Amino acid sequence: MKNQIKILDKEFILFIEEEKIQNRVTQLAEQINNDYKDKVPTFLIVLKGALLFAADLLKRIKVRCKVELISAKSYGNEMESSGTVKLKHLESNFKNKDIIIIEDVIDTGLTMKTLLDDINKYEPNSIEVAAILTKPNAIKTDVNIKYVGFEIDNLFVVGYGLDYAEFGRELPDIYVLKV
Ligand code: 5GP
Ligand code: MG
Repeated sequence: MKNQIKILDKEFILFIEEEKIQNRVTQLAEQINNDYKDKVPTFLIVLKGALLFAADLLKRIKVRCKVELISAKSYGNEMESSGTVKLKHLESNFKNKDIIIIEDVIDTGLTMKTLLDDINKYEPNSIEVAAILTKPNAIKTDVNIKYVGFEIDNLFVVGYGLDYAEFGRELPDIYVLKV
């Protein structure tokens, strides 16, 4: 891995290494396997940012489960939350299901709040959230995130599914914007 990368006009510095991410994902999967040992959860992957996290997490899930996809967009090509969230369901049969939403990062929490309100209308049995990153200092809503990979400061990060203007999602490590 490189210590520093450039995406378009911006420089980014190595922040969380692949090995550290993978170890944490293993721990989260163990926790979920334990919590859901008598259930059949439905993992709802929030595209596109959660793709890599979801793939790594799902490979370690040992309980019988289903996988669904949803796309949520709150950022344009900018680096601040736009305040509006667009949701696009690809499947919507959530009634009586035990849902685990897989998300990349909880920033203001607005996207997750919108998503939770939306999914709750389908009357699932339960909903929990797994996010590889949360930003406790940026949160503006009262969402409960049960499975958190890493708590980070109010920083802009890329890699491991997260993009800057759609680039950088393929990086196995997480990088932070150089200031
Ligand atoms: P929120 O609605 O919680 O403010 O924002 C959540 C969404 O904004 C995330 O799903 C993600 O797509 C995007 N986002 C928030 N923080 C970052 C960040 O540091 N880097 C990138 N690439 N996207 C972010
Ligand atoms: Mg996202």
